[in-house]
Amino acid sequence: MTEVSIERLTKDYGSSRAVDGISIRIAEGEFVSLLGPSGCGKTTTLKMIAGFEDVSSGAIRFDGKDVVHVPAEKRDIGMVFQNYALFPHMTVAGNLAFGLEMRKVPKAEMRDRIAKVLDMVQLSNHADRYPRQLSGGQQQRVALARALVIEPKILLLDEPLANLDAKLREEMRVFIRDIQRRVGITTVYVTHDQAEAMTMSDRVVVMFGGRIAQCGSPSDIYERPASTEVAKFVGQVNLLPATVETVAGDGRYGVKSALGPAEIACERTLRQGETITLAVRPEGIEIATSGEGTAATVLSSYYSGSLMDYRLKLDGGTEIDVQTFPRHRFSDGEQVKLSVPADRYWVLEIGA
Ligand code: ATP
Repeated sequence: MTEVSIERLTKDYGSSRAVDGISIRIAEGEFVSLLGPSGCGKTTTLKMIAGFEDVSSGAIRFDGKDVVHVPAEKRDIGMVFQNYALFPHMTVAGNLAFGLEMRKVPKAEMRDRIAKVLDMVQLSNHADRYPRQLSGGQQQRVALARALVIEPKILLLDEPLANLDAKLREEMRVFIRDIQRRVGITTVYVTHDQAEAMTMSDRVVVMFGGRIAQCGSPSDIYERPASTEVAKFVGQVNLLPATVETVAGDGRYGVKSALGPAEIACERTLRQGETITLAVRPEGIEIATSGEGTAATVLSSYYSGSLMDYRLKLDGGTEIDVQTFPRHRFSDGEQVKLSVPADRYWVLEIGA
């Protein structure tokens, strides 16, 4: 198992900076996703780790050894691409044998390794097929098998599920993660799909404009995003201007927003009278026909089978998104009460 350490890594294309001094330390066996919108520099970062792209400045270390000047084929990397990149004129077994032949692995060992890895990706019965005779999902499993059969130090995946349909994509998330855990290989996974990054990763690195906006566990990123940009990129969020009314000590504060008063905790120091932005995810808000809470009117609702999404208007005019399980359905125009457990709020910005 290999530790990957990236230090102040930068990539310039002419006068434009694609990757701007990023540092990440990836532990042995860890699964880390690079998540961000198109053009944020994730693929360029992955290519520099692989050795497919030169580095403008900074270091990339595998187990402490700088590999910046080591050519791609000597870095011992397994790579999976969005478009599978299988050799079309070779069978599945041929595709897997290719890298082993290059490494001069003896024939008997080669057969064993191919059989083992085909079993792992559940394609033992497809060894003699050609890529065109396989579905997209099967082709991507062959691509994963081909990356793993050489027993690389590090596995790099660039949007590997982007070409698959929604259901298969969800199945493949679990499939890839399960194999990665069994093999225990250090993995870097590039995606712009936040649900994919959240479900698969030990840690997620959120990138915007070539820089790291936040690096943390999926729950850190979702529940305590470092900025409004991160909060919005990884899910829906309600942002409420609020005022600090009381300072209770021990990091506890009484605040007031359009959703009413709340006793919240905040690690940063707030001052009485200060204006803050309070954030709460749609599923953090409870909705009821009556009882305590802030009065609101249902503007619209969207049913998606397992969940209901509502858009509501508070009496003061503020619009709020709420997500619930569809146990009880509220109709458009209905008057309801909204309440928020204090721990579902967090403070996103301090000051005007
Ligand atoms: P996507 O998901 O669309 O691939 P990304 O986050 O992976 O996006 P990169 O492909 O790393 O982004 O690109 C980062 C920036 O670098 C973009 O502005 C892109 O236009 C630029 N870029 C990438 N490759 C080159 C290149 N070979 N020459 C010039 N500019 C490039």
